[in-house]
Amino acid sequence: MSLKNSFKNISNKINNKILDLFYPTDIKCIFCGNELLIKNRYCTCGKCFAKLPYLEKLQVCEFCGTPIDDIAPICGFCFENKPAFLKARASFEYNEKIKYIVNRFKYNDEKFLAKPLAEFMADEYFRNNFECDFILYTPLTLEKFQKRGYNQSELLANSLSQILDLPVKQNVHKIKNTLTQTNLNREERKINLEKAFKILKKKELRDKNILLVDDVFTTGATVQEISKLLLNSGAKAIYVLTLAHTYFYKYKD
Ligand SMILES: [Zn+2]
Ligand SMILES: [Zn+2]
Repeated sequence: MSLKNSFKNISNKINNKILDLFYPTDIKCIFCGNELLIKNRYCTCGKCFAKLPYLEKLQVCEFCGTPIDDIAPICGFCFENKPAFLKARASFEYNEKIKYIVNRFKYNDEKFLAKPLAEFMADEYFRNNFECDFILYTPLTLEKFQKRGYNQSELLANSLSQILDLPVKQNVHKIKNTLTQTNLNREERKINLEKAFKILKKKELRDKNILLVDDVFTTGATVQEISKLLLNSGAKAIYVLTLAHTYFYKYKD
């Protein structure tokens, strides 16, 4: 690890320590708010922990991580369009409980959630035997970043950096304001994202296995677009890790 990255890691650690001071995440369950009887790295009570919609319980597409009930190892969409990323995995199905916590994390300034949520994601990283050289995250445009004050994917990446002991790099910039993807179908999402991202340092990517972190995997259009750029810039393989997967949305068109 370079000196610069070591400093970055130390600075992340300090930032997280400061967050810990202001947000006592180890006292209450992050999902239901009840007092924690047993402190744990997920900051989750036993009741909520048992009921979370873990995707590891389901059979998923080898490439994109979408739950499938076929005997075939890949989903119909990946069969027709092989993704640029090697594998995408998520910890949870995006059900109401997960949607609620993602919204709190994303829009309600509850930045302290990054650490316990990243713990769930780290489990998925190890379970799938990902072996990456460093972490990148889905960027926001400067305008959006300034409006929201933070990038939730960056916070997840920073927490993962500590848990996995991997550096986070700032190498992908979002240079075009895109429409909110929520109401767009797959084709519209693709067009919407064209030329939206830019790689800053190609050299840094050469022959590297990269962990690309995002909060939610919907159609995968965003991570697909970034993965294509990274591969074209010399990266070896892209592993996508998200907190949740909205797989029911995937086939909307
Ligand atoms: Zn709970
Ligand atoms: Zn698939």
